[in-house]
Amino acid sequence: MEVKRVVPSGYCKGVVNAIKLAKETRKQYPDEKIYILGMLVHNSFVSDELASLGIVTLDDSFKSKEELLDEVNDGIIIFTAHGISQAIKDKAKAKGLRYVDATCVDVLKTQNIIKERLAEGYEIIYFGKRKHPEAEAVLSISDRIHLVSNRDDIEDLDLKDRKLFLTNQTTMSYLELKDLIDKVLELYPDTIVQKEICNATSSRQEAISKLVDCDLLYVVGDSKSNNTNKLVDIGKKQGIRKVLLIHSYKDIDKNDLRDVEKVYVTAGASTPPLLIDEVITYLKNCS
Ligand code: SF4
Repeated sequence: MEVKRVVPSGYCKGVVNAIKLAKETRKQYPDEKIYILGMLVHNSFVSDELASLGIVTLDDSFKSKEELLDEVNDGIIIFTAHGISQAIKDKAKAKGLRYVDATCVDVLKTQNIIKERLAEGYEIIYFGKRKHPEAEAVLSISDRIHLVSNRDDIEDLDLKDRKLFLTNQTTMSYLELKDLIDKVLELYPDTIVQKEICNATSSRQEAISKLVDCDLLYVVGDSKSNNTNKLVDIGKKQGIRKVLLIHSYKDIDKNDLRDVEKVYVTAGASTPPLLIDEVITYLKNCS
C-alpha cells in the first residue's frame, strides 16, 4: 500500500498565530487566570495542550459568547481566530478584563470588506455556517447582513431593488460557493460578488481535487472544524471511493485498508502536525 501526504495540509498561518499568541500570553502573565472565549481553533488536542498550560477554554454549545463571558470576573480573555463581535469586546472592557484578540487577518479582511460595502449602502448576502463563530461575528456587524447556508435560504430572501453584495465565510467549500453564486446571480443578476475563501482553505481543497488513483483519503481533524469538514465534502464530490474523517491514528480501522493500493492523508488547518505524522507512520507500518 502506498501512503502519501496531500500537500498542502495541516496548520495555516491564522492557527499558528493564535496558538503563539495564547502561549505568549501565558509566558507574559504566568500567575494570571487566562480564558479563551470558545475554542481557540477547532481542535480538541489544541485545547487540551492549552489546558495543560492553565489556559481555560470556555466552550458550551448551549451558551452564547455573552453568557460565557458572564462567567469571567477577572484575568485575561483571549478571543479566538474566528473573530469576535464589537459588543463582546466592549463588554469585556466594561468588566475591567484585559483581552488578547487572536482573530485571523484573513477573517478581519473579510469583515473590513463587508463594513466598506455596508457604508456604501449595500445589503450583504453572506454565505456561511449557521452558529459558526466566524459567521456570528460577521452577523453582529449589521442587520443588513443576510446569512445563507444553502440554495433554500437564497430562495427565502426578499431583496428586490436593493444594492447587493455577496461574500462568504473564509472556510467554505469552493464547489458550494460556486453553486450559491450561480443561484444568487440567477435571482439577483446585478449582485457584486467577492469570493473570500482564504488561501489556506482553497489551497487545501484544490490539492484534493488534483489527487489521482486515490482509493482512500483520510482527513485528520476535529469534526467541529468547518474547513476540515469541507475537505471531506470535496473528497467525496471528487468521487474518491472512501473518505474518512479521523481525529488521530487511533480512529483508523484496519478493515478500511483492505483492497486499498493508494491512501492519501490530508488535514484541516487546525490539526497539529504531530497528529498527521502519527497517522502517516501508522499507515506505513500497516503496509
Ligand atoms: S483557515 Fe484561513 S481564515 Fe481560518 S485561521 Fe486559517 S488562514 Fe485564517
